[in-house]
Amino acid sequence: MNVYDSDRMKDSLAPLGYQEGSDLQEADMIVINTCHIREKASEKVFSELGRLRKVKQRAEQEQNRRVKIVVAGCVAQAEGEEITRRAPWVDIVVGPQTYHRLPDLVAKLDPVQRNHLIDIEFPPELKFDFLPENLGQRGPAAFLSVQEGCDKFCSFCVVPYTRGAEFSRSVETILDEAKTLISSGTKEITLLGQNVNAWHGLGPSGNEWGLGRLIFALAEMPELQRIRYTTSHPLDMDEELISAHAQVDKLMPYLHLPIQSGSDRILQAMNRRHTAADYLNIIDRLRSVRTDIALSSDFIVGFPGETDKDFADTLKLIDKVGYASAYSFKYSMRPGTPAASKFLQVPEEVKSDRLSSLQQLLDAQQFAFNKTCESMKFDVLVEQKAPRKGQLNARTPYMQSVYFDGPESLIGKIARVKVSQARNNSLSAEIIQ
Ligand code: SF4
Repeated sequence: MNVYDSDRMKDSLAPLGYQEGSDLQEADMIVINTCHIREKASEKVFSELGRLRKVKQRAEQEQNRRVKIVVAGCVAQAEGEEITRRAPWVDIVVGPQTYHRLPDLVAKLDPVQRNHLIDIEFPPELKFDFLPENLGQRGPAAFLSVQEGCDKFCSFCVVPYTRGAEFSRSVETILDEAKTLISSGTKEITLLGQNVNAWHGLGPSGNEWGLGRLIFALAEMPELQRIRYTTSHPLDMDEELISAHAQVDKLMPYLHLPIQSGSDRILQAMNRRHTAADYLNIIDRLRSVRTDIALSSDFIVGFPGETDKDFADTLKLIDKVGYASAYSFKYSMRPGTPAASKFLQVPEEVKSDRLSSLQQLLDAQQFAFNKTCESMKFDVLVEQKAPRKGQLNARTPYMQSVYFDGPESLIGKIARVKVSQARNNSLSAEIIQ
């Protein structure tokens, strides 16, 4: 989502004459768009700001040029004035729900006397109603934010506090933005939301649409070839969305559906409001309509109070599901969240041991899944040149990165390849069409 937000900030600054640069030393404005989901996010931001102070000083002393420094995103939201107190060389602090005001904030900066501007409100207006049109040019695969914020309040998570309450963009604005992206060459759209499958909106005839219905509508756009969505919550996997997986060929057979833990006790302490059996039931329903669907999840190990038995339940669940990929982390306290005040914190070395066993299992599953793709033929979307000369990088329907020799003219197109070798994190292939 931060990639999407950064692009939209770029769109909103374009009318002021700003465009994306490649050399930090020559920048007139530097925007750090921050994420607060992991531990030490704030420290990392302050350390980066220390580096940028020197860039700013050099431009002022050697070129008499003022470089504006902006801190955006969820660390900006969480830290607010603390940022300009500790790093007074920062000019603007703007939250994830107010970045549409960035051009106004830039205009309000005093050109002579240094002033700081902080805007971390949760404004009454929807930023999407005030952002300029998406300028497109995002490449073959683009993000489209449809939903933001979260009302679920998992006890470990800062998102409800930094991104605010759930809201959904209107059907019309989403379809318009999709058209803009497609007309500038995008072939694959990933619908984004902190709880993307909680998205809902009114369709053209006034009836309520859910994400499944939106996917059906997007699939009718002839130039759009692939649709994905992330990140979803098990509680919002409704029948229409599951049937979209059965009926919409353009919806890729890959789903990131986080469960976090396989223990019902821990799921309850996490306030996930579903059990491991509920989750497995959803997986069964998905697999019954789309047998080849590849699954991915997030896991947190060492949540406060997690016992060896709870952790064993997580391993058992992973064994049952068989993931194509996954993200796993040690629990880290996020200030202000309910879990941070629980006193049953798991010792660091126990967390590390558990994470390493869990990742061993997940890595083995990922490699086994990649191995099943050897000799298979796929239509892949060619996204970019690979680091190795003459090679291209594409994504399979199952989100695997695939590398093969081919001409650059294929970038942005769908190519047919045959997988020659599976690796842990990618595939090698030969082009056949
Ligand atoms: S559903 Fe996701 S975004 Fe919302 S609180 Fe839980 S982990 Fe955070």
